[in-house]
Amino acid sequence: MTNREVLISGAGVAGPALAFWLVRAGWRVTVVERAPELRAEGYKVDVRGAATTVLARMGLHEAARERDTGMRRITYVKRDGRPIASLPADLLMGRRGDDLEIMRGDLGRILFDATVGDVDYRFGDAIAGLADGPDGVEVTFESGARAVFAFVVGADGLHSATRRRVLGETPLNHLGAYISIFSAPNDLGIDREEIMYTEPGRLIFAYAMGAGEQALVGMTFAAGPLDHDRRDVAGQKDLVRAAFAGRGWRSDAFLAAMDTSADFYFDSISQVELPSWSAGRVTLLGDAAYCPSPASGQGTSVALTGAYVLGRHLGTPGGLAAYEAEMRPYVEKNMAFGRKMARDMVPGSRLAIAVRNYGMRTLRFHPRKEQVIDKVLAPMHEAANAIVI
Ligand SMILES: Cc1cc2nc3c(=O)[nH]c(=O)nc-3n(C[C@H](O)[C@H](O)[C@H](O)COP(=O)(O)OP(=O)(O)OC[C@H]3O[C@@H](n4cnc5c(N)ncnc54)[C@H](O)[C@@H]3O)c2cc1C
Repeated sequence: MTNREVLISGAGVAGPALAFWLVRAGWRVTVVERAPELRAEGYKVDVRGAATTVLARMGLHEAARERDTGMRRITYVKRDGRPIASLPADLLMGRRGDDLEIMRGDLGRILFDATVGDVDYRFGDAIAGLADGPDGVEVTFESGARAVFAFVVGADGLHSATRRRVLGETPLNHLGAYISIFSAPNDLGIDREEIMYTEPGRLIFAYAMGAGEQALVGMTFAAGPLDHDRRDVAGQKDLVRAAFAGRGWRSDAFLAAMDTSADFYFDSISQVELPSWSAGRVTLLGDAAYCPSPASGQGTSVALTGAYVLGRHLGTPGGLAAYEAEMRPYVEKNMAFGRKMARDMVPGSRLAIAVRNYGMRTLRFHPRKEQVIDKVLAPMHEAANAIVI
């Protein structure tokens, strides 16, 4: 086949990262993104282990490091805002090597800027139909445009429409909670400190890159699968309001900020587990194929690594099978870690919160605190490095 055109659906993290590698492999790349512009929303995300090597090979690790959140402390607060425990971020995060933490929007912008000169980005459009035939994949876009591509890659996130088109309905593995993220006035003067408040079934976290910067607030609540319309932002805000109205710390102030916030992200904490990621000349990447959930803190790293591996294999004989074979053990380790973290993310009882608070209060006096944290975080580092690239 002489067609050297690839279509990627989704300009999140995985899509632009794959575009980067495909351009270098000689493909002409189109990225179609449903949103009218690059989506800047999102909280801090981590890039760890193998994914830091990917960023370095892209020549982007330095740019990402310059936008590192530089988090200094993590402080747990009581209902009235008084601190329970405040610990250096370096201790609790257990960073290793070139690991970094960056606002999702900053990473998305770095990946976009690195590719926009070579890639045809089409915002405000989406795939309307796909037909995999002998000459390639015929694609019809919602805009009415049509084209034939050698391969189509669905990097369109947790609720991937590409996945639904090629594999049918595949239920998400709901991990029992929902997450919302939005920006809010930094009334607390947060300066590179993460503040966390927990009550049974509810978690609030807030972060700002400096006292003069907007704060980003996360409100997470435990709930079974909710029947809601993913395009109905007002309805999603109602769900967050119902979970937090009249609750502790700054719940009501944050809810008021949510109502006027220019950005708002809401989703379930879920995983995507598929027996296969490809069908014919269509394949899936990142959250669309193997979302380990925000609870894992590994979604971005797995997506970056997946983009690198797929970029090397796409178009080679047996390439899609090789992509899957190389990635699957790493993906499974990160999935298992995500399930474990989801169980602990939103403590369900006062006792669980009291035990956690006791641990945090006493940790800084522990003579071997670094080793204690190392042991707790060992499965995360193992998962982050469970692939040789
Ligand atoms: C706005 C936003 C905020 C997020 N915030 C956080 C966070 O705070 N913490 C966290 O752990 N994870 C967050 N995530 C998820 C995180 O980005 C991913 O887990 C990880 O980075 C893997 O990225 P991805 O590119 O596979 O998926 P995503 O980052 O979800 O990107 C998917 C992209 O596909 C686009 N898209 C969706 N449907 C279509 C369609 N039909 N056609 C074309 N394009 C489509 C979306 O608009 C999005 O730009 C967020 C995702 C988004 C979209």
